[in-house]
Amino acid sequence: MKRRIVLRILSALSLSGLAKHTLAQSKNPKGAKAVEELQKNWKTLLADGANVETSTEPLKLSKDEWKKRLPPQAYDVLRNEGTERAGSSPLNDEKRPGVFVCAGCNLPLFSSAMKFDSGTGWPSFFTTIPGALGTSRDFKLILPRVEYHCARCGGHHGHLFDDGPEPTGMRYCNNGVALRFIPKTGKA
Ligand SMILES: [Zn+2]
Repeated sequence: MKRRIVLRILSALSLSGLAKHTLAQSKNPKGAKAVEELQKNWKTLLADGANVETSTEPLKLSKDEWKKRLPPQAYDVLRNEGTERAGSSPLNDEKRPGVFVCAGCNLPLFSSAMKFDSGTGWPSFFTTIPGALGTSRDFKLILPRVEYHCARCGGHHGHLFDDGPEPTGMRYCNNGVALRFIPKTGKA
């Protein structure tokens, strides 16, 4: 237990360096260019005629409206900043081409090309669709963490860490229940 606390403190401390870690400063310019391409071309992984939100105009609903709209587990994560049990989401093993949208409002957040296997038990991504997420700091583990949420409905999705793969070095640790996956072809 003690060791776990120490590790938590170390990982929270390393977040202070997060802002400095940008693609422009990447030691791997070729990789950075590839990430920019993924961000620019994410729609090539979107299924024809998929029902997704194209505007980030804020969606504001009352607590009761969200409760009606979302299954209890998704409500807990998206509206109460809950965390699903590690390894519980089928999206951990989702490897098909496609797009991940917000389960609250259908805004596209990540493409399958941005996903990697972090081994943490939560779907993880090294970059996002531009403009899809906002961030804030939370202090739930006493030390600050970077929380991120959907730019449209404000729904909580997960936390951002700086131990992801190069060239971004970022790990968006996302709750699977807050996402809906739309495969490029075939059934969801
Ligand atoms: Zn949303």
